[in-house]
Amino acid sequence: MATEKRYCPACGHEQDENGICTNEKCPRRSLQVTLNENQKAAEEAKEELKVQSASILSTRKFMLNTRKMIFGNP
Ligand SMILES: [Zn+2]
Repeated sequence: MATEKRYCPACGHEQDENGICTNEKCPRRSLQVTLNENQKAAEEAKEELKVQSASILSTRKFMLNTRKMIFGNP
C-alpha cells in the first residue's frame, strides 16, 4: 500500500500518519496536538470513571450481601 503524502492546509508542510502537521511553528499543528491531548485525557478520565463506578457497584453488592447475612432476607 503506497502511503499518499498529505499536506497541511494551513502551512503546506507534510503531515504525519495521524494527519498532524510536521511544522513545529504551525498554528494548526499546535491546535491538533492540543486536541489530541484533550482527547487522550478525556478517554483516560472515562476509563477512570468506569473503574470507579465498577468499584462502587461491587461495594454496594458487598454491603447488600453483608446486610443479608446479618438481617436475613426481608
Ligand atoms: Zn501546518
